[in-house]
Amino acid sequence: MSVCYLDSEIKTSCYGCEACVQACSRKAITMVEDDEGFRYPRIDDSLCIHCGLCRKVCPHSNPPERFHEEKSVYGGYHKDAEVRAESTSGGGFSAIVDAWCDDNYVIFGAVADGLNVRHEYITDKKALGKFRKSKYSQSQIGTAYFDTKKFLREGRKVLFSGTPCHIAALKSFLRNKSYENLLMVEVVCEGVPSPLYVRKYDAYLQDKYKSSIRDLDYRYTDSAPLKSKDRITPGKWDFEVMHTVMNNGRVLKVDRWLNPFWSIWLSHLMSRPSCYECPFAAAERNADITLGDLWGVHLYCPDLYGRNGGSSLVVCNSAQGKAVWQIAQQYMHGRELSFETALKYQGPMRSHIASNPLRDACMADLRACDYQTINKKWAKKPTVKLLWQKYVWGNRQKVWLWNILHHLKITSIK
Ligand SMILES: Cc1cc2nc3c(=O)[nH]c(=O)nc-3n(C[C@H](O)[C@H](O)[C@H](O)COP(=O)(O)OP(=O)(O)OC[C@H]3O[C@@H](n4cnc5c(N)ncnc54)[C@H](O)[C@@H]3O)c2cc1C
Repeated sequence: MSVCYLDSEIKTSCYGCEACVQACSRKAITMVEDDEGFRYPRIDDSLCIHCGLCRKVCPHSNPPERFHEEKSVYGGYHKDAEVRAESTSGGGFSAIVDAWCDDNYVIFGAVADGLNVRHEYITDKKALGKFRKSKYSQSQIGTAYFDTKKFLREGRKVLFSGTPCHIAALKSFLRNKSYENLLMVEVVCEGVPSPLYVRKYDAYLQDKYKSSIRDLDYRYTDSAPLKSKDRITPGKWDFEVMHTVMNNGRVLKVDRWLNPFWSIWLSHLMSRPSCYECPFAAAERNADITLGDLWGVHLYCPDLYGRNGGSSLVVCNSAQGKAVWQIAQQYMHGRELSFETALKYQGPMRSHIASNPLRDACMADLRACDYQTINKKWAKKPTVKLLWQKYVWGNRQKVWLWNILHHLKITSIK
């Protein structure tokens, strides 16, 4: 058996999208984990008939055709406060589901499964809750591309959501054939972190509390009971917490901005090798619609800050995406924005993440050291500037002042 990154032995050439696994009619390919916790295809030479299909569907060997038409961009948040509280950004994904899924539909998305994340499908949008919220780990795709093809051929409406490499893989798997009944929705992606980190966290909790993780919400918003559907959910930008529920019922909350996971991941010390060269982190996209956080909201559209309740960036890349979003807008508060301005604040829509020369050293520690040692060595301590911006004079306070000035009809602030 050989571990194979298809095009070459270089790990950056494999996105871990699993298109090759699903395309292989001989079931000769399985995914195996390397010592960093990332999964790669392994070909069983005794089963392989050298048909070459795995290479044909690989989005690295055969990148799919992207949408080149003019984009339309929207910023805003869902009108329903409960949906907003359950969503990561501003609930744009839920608005799209309501607009697209009327009858005979299937929705694919990522669900949390303990420490793992995997793709599933639902046929009733009442179950949408399990797809909501970003799980910051690579989702294992299972048979999702294969099932999508089957549903499309049966004439069902399919909404497929995932990271940009999942969408590229789906298109390659479908051999670039376009389907009227398919809507592809991707998230803006800063890369996926090594699963070793969260396993070290789990081992630490087991040691300390004699219980392991049942549920992990990376961006939990502590909101008071929502009485009215229109109430603004506070806390999305400044007071999100990483919320861990253990099997013994114990709950731990750690402020997102002071959390070592975010510091290590966003310093690009533990991302998948292919993320450092990701070709899908660019302005030209593969999906009909791209969803992200409306970063920079306090600077260029403070009215969409949502009283610190989070906002979605929605980029429509295709005619199909624009048509669906026309309908979806009725569920949102917001407005059209300029693509060039939105792009300024969205690094992963311009280019892939930068490599960090200390990555290998950090990964070595991730293998060898315990959770506390890793954090002590690699996570940045919160700076006085960060605390000042969070509690004294930051985006929240600037938007608050902007609102007063705006109300008094005095010009906006920077
Ligand atoms: C790994 C990752 C990195 C991201 N990086 C950025 C970033 O750098 N900048 C930015 O602006 N936004 C980023 N996002 C997107 C952002 O976090 C929100 O997912 C997005 O704005 C949608 O939020 P929402 O409120 O519309 O809906 P929600 O209801 O919260 O959206 C859920 C959607 O995310 C999908 N999803 C959740 N977890 C995964 C996963 N592990 N793999 C594939 N799909 C998943 C679900 O299938 C569903 O389509 C990232 C998301 C992920 C998963």
